[in-house]
Amino acid sequence: MLPLPAFTDNYIWMLHDGRHAVVVDPGDAAPVLLALRDMGLSLQAILVTHHHGDHVGGVSALRDATGAAVYGPAGESMPEPLTRLRQGDSVSALGLRFAVLDVPGHTAGHIAYYCANMDGAPLLFCGDTLFSGGCGRLFEGTPAQMQASLDALAALPGDTRVCCAHEYTLSNLKFAQAVEPHNQALRDYASQCQALRQAGRPTLPSRMATERAINPFLRTREATVAQAARSFDAQVNPHQAVAVLAALRQWKNEFR
Ligand code: ZN
Ligand code: FE
Repeated sequence: MLPLPAFTDNYIWMLHDGRHAVVVDPGDAAPVLLALRDMGLSLQAILVTHHHGDHVGGVSALRDATGAAVYGPAGESMPEPLTRLRQGDSVSALGLRFAVLDVPGHTAGHIAYYCANMDGAPLLFCGDTLFSGGCGRLFEGTPAQMQASLDALAALPGDTRVCCAHEYTLSNLKFAQAVEPHNQALRDYASQCQALRQAGRPTLPSRMATERAINPFLRTREATVAQAARSFDAQVNPHQAVAVLAALRQWKNEFR
């Protein structure tokens, strides 16, 4: 499994078994075609999490070039033809099973793909719903939807490898540290990620257990996070996770 960099900060995740490959959210076909050629792989399936251009831009070109099957969310406009998926559905590719989770919030029909039967730890492709240290902006969904989506993802096993679609980690961790300046796990993780970026390496995949310990958007029920949300907006009820999440998201949008 490897992240193919695209645009300025996207990752197109590629999984392969030495012969066949699967890609997730190919916003651009070029880096995928190059990797397929370099490694002598044939593309079997394209998994898409949501309709934004930086996730679907390369789908048609890749389908035309490779004949790969395309899978995407049931509830969003997508480059046709494709197989539309919702919660409870699954995709089989590379001899693996990818279970579909509905995770609305960033967009109304956003889905994620979870693969438990990977040798090693499980894999999660969460698009723009969960980032390391942060979450996607609420373009189409409500804070309540995002809270429910993040709760569902946070409930996955701690060793799950979290494959997000963007390298936003360092800026997310700057915000996370403003929210929880005394979180030691967060401090340690931030210096780890800084070292990775300085070495030119991705900070991803992250691990779900790490995210639960450091990501303020997965920690809206922690007293420290709730209090911080109140320092941004004194109206926030610290016992309502959704209100805390809404305040954090607003704060993050304004944070520099
Ligand atoms: Zn997006
Ligand atoms: Fe995106």
